[in-house]
Amino acid sequence: MLIRIDDIKEGGTVLDVTESAEEFPALAEMIASGDLAFAAPIHVRLKIFRVREVVEVEGGIETTMRFVCGACLAEFDASMASSFAVTFVRELPQVFDESGEEVQLSADEMGMIPFQGDEIDLREAVAEQVVISQPIRPLCREACKGLCPQCGADRNESDCGCVRPVMNSKFAALKDFRVDEKKK
Ligand SMILES: [Zn+2]
Ligand SMILES: [Zn+2]
Repeated sequence: MLIRIDDIKEGGTVLDVTESAEEFPALAEMIASGDLAFAAPIHVRLKIFRVREVVEVEGGIETTMRFVCGACLAEFDASMASSFAVTFVRELPQVFDESGEEVQLSADEMGMIPFQGDEIDLREAVAEQVVISQPIRPLCREACKGLCPQCGADRNESDCGCVRPVMNSKFAALKDFRVDEKKK
């Protein structure tokens, strides 16, 4: 996923590749630590434009990920797609001297990623996009009933028949809130 700056065509170059998540160092780390799991490689389709020393990249990624349901703890696979755009700007030579840090900062402030040399490695930007597209609390289905708090049975599979504790009238409002939440 290295783009040679000089190879970018006028009118844009299309990059259409499918790579295993392990090929992305940041993702490989998260896979190794158990924070992310993939059920398919990552399909990356990007269009790359260049205007002088500024390179615009836009497009999307698609993959299938393996999640653990936040309610019933079952593993499930779900497809994930995300569109994004990033701008790379060539780091100015001054960046290496004392006042140079400001140059890099201003690129960051404008939402641009500085690059050096003749190539841009898109792995980091793609990996970041995968990470920020993760659901905060993945659910195996919209109305997952979760596990029974008493016996631990998966309430999607069977009604374990556990009697729910009787609510103290003091908590009646709380009980109503829970009923509302379940309807979603
Ligand atoms: Zn679930
Ligand atoms: Zn139960």
